Amino acid sequence: MKLTLYNSLTRRKELFEPQNPARITLYNCGPTVYSHAHIGNARAAVVVDVLFRVLRHIYGGDHVVYVRNITDVDDKIIAAATEQGMPISGITEKYARIYNEDLAALNCLPPTHQPRATDHISHMIGMIGTLLDKGFAYEADGHVFFDVSTYDDYGKLSGNRLENLRSGDRIGEGEAARKRNEADFVLWKPELGGVGWDAPFGRGRPGWHIECSAMVRATLGEVIDIHCGGVDLKFPHHENEIAQSCCANNRTTFARFWVHNEFLNMDSGKMSKSLGNVIPIRDLLGDWDGEVIRLALLKAHYRSELIWTEDLLRESKAQLDGWYRVIEKAVSLGMDRDMRDARPDEKFISTIENDINTMEFLSGLECLKTRFFGEVEKKERLGEHTPGHEIFISILNPFVFMAGFLGFLRSDPQEWFKGGRDTDRFDRRVRDYDNARAQAVAAKKSGNEAKTGELFRRSDTIREELQSEGIIIETGPDGSSWRQT
Ligand SMILES: [Zn+2]
Repeated sequence: MKLTLYNSLTRRKELFEPQNPARITLYNCGPTVYSHAHIGNARAAVVVDVLFRVLRHIYGGDHVVYVRNITDVDDKIIAAATEQGMPISGITEKYARIYNEDLAALNCLPPTHQPRATDHISHMIGMIGTLLDKGFAYEADGHVFFDVSTYDDYGKLSGNRLENLRSGDRIGEGEAARKRNEADFVLWKPELGGVGWDAPFGRGRPGWHIECSAMVRATLGEVIDIHCGGVDLKFPHHENEIAQSCCANNRTTFARFWVHNEFLNMDSGKMSKSLGNVIPIRDLLGDWDGEVIRLALLKAHYRSELIWTEDLLRESKAQLDGWYRVIEKAVSLGMDRDMRDARPDEKFISTIENDINTMEFLSGLECLKTRFFGEVEKKERLGEHTPGHEIFISILNPFVFMAGFLGFLRSDPQEWFKGGRDTDRFDRRVRDYDNARAQAVAAKKSGNEAKTGELFRRSDTIREELQSEGIIIETGPDGSSWRQT
C-alpha cells in the first residue's frame, strides 16, 4: 500500500503520505453551472473518482473527505440568466442537477461535500478582508485586486516567471486600467445584473478564484492533502488559489499534492466552444452506456492527452462486452452472479497505486478474461470434471473485484446485452417468433406442408427484422431470448 502520485508542484512522482491517515483531504474544482458539462469535464471528474476510490481502498471509506464545489455565481451564469429571462437560481439549480446526474451515469461516486459558492460568500468576504488588512490586496473603484508582487512564490506551480506574466483572467471592462501589475487578479468586483452581496469594500460579487480558496478552507482546512483539476486550470486558477490561500492563512503550503489531468482532444484538434466541437456528456449518454464512456475516458493515462473518437467508444463497448461475457458464462457454469467472495488482489491494486496507472490495471483485467475463457475452452474440450470450479473462482474473484473497483460491471449481463433498447417490443417479437416456430413444428407433424412453410417464413421474417436492428435471437431449451450484437 504505497501510493505514489505525480505532484505538479514539485514536477516529480512522490510517495503520498497524508497529514492525518484518519482524514485525507481531497479537493477538485467543480463545474460552473450555466450549461451542460462536456466530455472534457467528464474526464477530469472520472480521473478524480478513480483517485478517490484508491484512497478509500487504502485508508477506508470513512477516512477520505472529498470536496467538489459548485460555482453558482459567475459572469457566464449571469449572462445566461439574462439571456434566458430566468432567475440565476433557475439556471444554476438546473445545471447542477444535470451535472450530478451525468456523473452518476458515469458511475462517479458522489463527493463527501458539494459546497456551493453562494453559501460561502461570507467566507470569501472574510478572506478578502484579511488579504486587504495584510497588504496583499488593494481596492480600486469597487474592485479588489490581489497584488501578485507581494507574493514571492507566485508562478511556482505553473512555472511562469512573474515578469513574463499577464493576468490569465478574462478582463472585465476597465479592470486593466485599475490594476497595479498586469498579472494582478480580481478578488471582488461590483454588482452585475442585480447580483451582489454587501461587503466592507462595496456591494459586489466574488472573483472565481477566491471562491475555491474560501470553500477549501471552510470544508477541508488551511492545508489540504491533494488538490485536483484539469491541466487547463493550472494557470491562472490554481496559481491564484495558492497565492490567496497561503497569504490569507499565513502558510507556506496550500495543497501538498497537485494532481492535474491532461487535455481531452478531438481527433480534429482541441475541443472548444468557439470551434463548435464540444460534446455534452448528456448527448453521449443518449447513444452509449455510461460504463462505455467511463472506460473510454480511462483508456489513456491521466497525464497523457486523450484523443476522443467514435472508434474509442466502439472499442470500449467491445471490451466491456467481453467482460460481461465472462460474468454471463460464469453464471451459466453455476457460479454466484454477485461473486460475493470477490476479494482485492493486492498485486493488481499496486499497479493502480503507481500514479493511478489505469492502463496497466485494465490490461490486468484483460489477462484474467483471456485466462477465464482458456479454462472454459479446456472444460468444454475435456468434459465435465476438468477443470474444477475452484480454478474459475480463482480467476473470477480478482476479475470481479477489479472491474468493480474501477466502477464497471454494474449491470446484469442480460440487461447489458439488451443495452437499454426497446425491450418490451423485442420481447414481444421474440414470443411471436417462438409461437410461429412451435406452430410450424405442429403443422409439420400433421403433414400440412403449405402451412409449415408459411409459419417458418414468418419466423424467419421476425429474425431478419430484428437482425436489421442489431438484435440476435438465441434459442435455448427454455425458449428464445434476444441480445444486442
Ligand atoms: Zn478551483
